[in-house]
Amino acid sequence: MSARENAARVGAVCRVAIDGPAGAGKSTVAKAVASRLSALYIDTGAMYRAVGLKMLAEGIGTGPEDAERLAHMLAETEIDFADGRICLDGRDVSGDIRTDAISRMASECSALPSVRQKLVALQRAMGERRSVLMDGRDIGSNVFPDAEFKFFLTASPQERAHRRFLELQKRDENVSLARVLEDIEQRDYNDSHRALHPLVKTADAYEIDSTNMSAEEVTERVLAVILGARTAEAERGKR
Ligand code: C5P
Repeated sequence: MSARENAARVGAVCRVAIDGPAGAGKSTVAKAVASRLSALYIDTGAMYRAVGLKMLAEGIGTGPEDAERLAHMLAETEIDFADGRICLDGRDVSGDIRTDAISRMASECSALPSVRQKLVALQRAMGERRSVLMDGRDIGSNVFPDAEFKFFLTASPQERAHRRFLELQKRDENVSLARVLEDIEQRDYNDSHRALHPLVKTADAYEIDSTNMSAEEVTERVLAVILGARTAEAERGKR
């Protein structure tokens, strides 16, 4: 069943997937759409970042020699969201995970089967009982292949690097635009070439290229697709 056909099943629980590469504006748009739909927003990238943060803090690497320590660490790791903040083992790490070093570590650790297994199970449990809007890389292809709505958000690498550069500058992180672009291209490559759950646009996802669009315009486009499908379905129900 396609995502659009699935819209017919929109009822108490609705899952909206927004996938795409780093810096495409997913989280800004996802937050705004979730708030308009009264759905729970889950930033799955933040979950991979939290695992990366804990691995760095505990000196656990991504190589096979550390696999056992990593499995032990994951078994004892709690990740949760409260009021839009991400908590790692009960501590709010929303600020700590937004550095360049953690971006790289998240990209590396997200290729490990043990890490993905743990986080995908958590994500599926989060979307079981209530409507969620999840953004990431594999939400429509793997976490919720039967999501009612799937979006694939892109923008040119230059535009994405520029947005990320402005964000880092605001946080006083001293890094050049060229370096940010290099990082984005490396993460794009890692995310779309890994063996497990790579970044892909599924055939039933609605693609939006946000290179020349504001976050507000993208938000309105996403809402128009969701609300349009719901209205059409309600009309069909009346007949
Ligand atoms: O979205 P964000 O850039 O914060 O994600 C950090 C990293 O986590 C990404 O580079 C990607 O490697 C990984 N990720 C993933 N699957 C997801 C979300 C993020 O592999 N669903």
